[in-house]
Amino acid sequence: MTPDDFRAHAHQVADWMADYLETVGERPVKSRARPGEITARLPASAPEDGEPFEAIMADFNDIIVPGLTHWQHPGFFAYFPANASPPSILAEMLAAVLATQCMSWQTSPAATELEGRVMEWLRELVGLPADFIGAIQDTASTATLCAILAARERASDFATNHTGLSGGPRMTTYCSSEGHSSIDKAVRIAGLGSDQLRKIAVDQHSAMDPAALDAAIAADAAAGLRPVCVVATLGSTSQSAVDPLRAIGAVCRRHGVWLHVDAAWAGSALVLPEMRWMIDGIEAADSLVFNPHKWLLTQLECSAFYVRDKAALIRTFEILPEYLKTREGDQVTNYRDWGVQLGRRFRALKLWFVLRSYGRTGLQAHVRRHIALAQDLAARIAAQPDFEVLAPSPLALVCFRYHPPGLDDPAKLDALNETLLETLNDSGALYLTQTRLDGAYVIRFAIGAVLTEARHVEAAWEKIQHTARRLGEGT
Ligand code: PLP
Repeated sequence: MTPDDFRAHAHQVADWMADYLETVGERPVKSRARPGEITARLPASAPEDGEPFEAIMADFNDIIVPGLTHWQHPGFFAYFPANASPPSILAEMLAAVLATQCMSWQTSPAATELEGRVMEWLRELVGLPADFIGAIQDTASTATLCAILAARERASDFATNHTGLSGGPRMTTYCSSEGHSSIDKAVRIAGLGSDQLRKIAVDQHSAMDPAALDAAIAADAAAGLRPVCVVATLGSTSQSAVDPLRAIGAVCRRHGVWLHVDAAWAGSALVLPEMRWMIDGIEAADSLVFNPHKWLLTQLECSAFYVRDKAALIRTFEILPEYLKTREGDQVTNYRDWGVQLGRRFRALKLWFVLRSYGRTGLQAHVRRHIALAQDLAARIAAQPDFEVLAPSPLALVCFRYHPPGLDDPAKLDALNETLLETLNDSGALYLTQTRLDGAYVIRFAIGAVLTEARHVEAAWEKIQHTARRLGEGT
């Protein structure tokens, strides 16, 4: 591709992108592709000779785009959102053309120093303590893995990295029964073993019971095991439960255990002073992660990972072969030593563009709007005699089910709600996902897409009621 061709195609792609954002709401939000359908349309081998850009774009439009689920669709209410805002997208375009590799200060000084600065800005914006030092990880899963690895190393006086796990006492990790599956994955990868992950009981609000945590840690210590890490959750995936940090922190301090806070989705809401109750007691935490890529207008991958003991983190990951040494040495920040990845993308750029484009007030308006929409939706659902809200909605997630009067058989209720969810998702107008609460099938309605407005939530709720009652007539 010549430089002139590149310029022309870049303009075409920019137009495509602007058109997409304008019209994404007209596409089916959840892809209607059947398994294998896309593969069948792709040749078994790469082309022998290069193909023209026009041919590639034509297939992109024809094969790829219809096979996508549109996370930026205003009717996307599934999982948790994955935000992409125009400033973030533009920054990603620039990061793509620069294609810098940001593993150490010397390989991209501005990327490193910008990352440090935006992590400080973000820390202040969400009200975290000033001694939390941040780095951007790809995902919350990676950040939680890093925290558990650092906790493991600190607990073994940094011996485990060298000796391996065999020989020493088995190390235990703790989260509530509502903790995210990324914690299970992290303890497996860290070699601690899922048998040593204690799922602590929750209270009536599905928040971790600190007394049960205390008892579990004490019992493990008494049995000769070594408790190393507690992962508290702010905004659980199933129903946005918030663990009590102050009481959990006191338990961790007493037992000398690392406290990591997983606020993957809910952390973005900390831009609102009225949501800071979630981090009451944060002084006792050793690390925290939240994802601006979920709910703070910033493209995947952007997980803000904060640690108090930067030295413990670096000691966990630092390896310095000759070919990675630089003249500046440890006088500068080298993010390659802050986590698993060596090669790192220029992720700070999009966050910088977002923070500057929206400012504190713009970020607050974004999150506050979604919370208000969710509160309104929860009230409307609760007002209907044939619907139930099944969990508190402190943030922007509403858990509900259709429950027509007289239909009380749990299996039939589950089946009816499962059919309701599938029917709604097949319509292409909205996309919802499910969970189970106390064994019951529950529909989750998570509000947070950048393009979602009140009218989209209203239209979705109308469709849910209409579809549910039509299906309910058949039961
Ligand atoms: N923790 C919680 C509470 C989550 O809800 C999620 C994902 O939704 C994760 C962790 C994992 O996030 P990531 O996809 O960034 O690894």
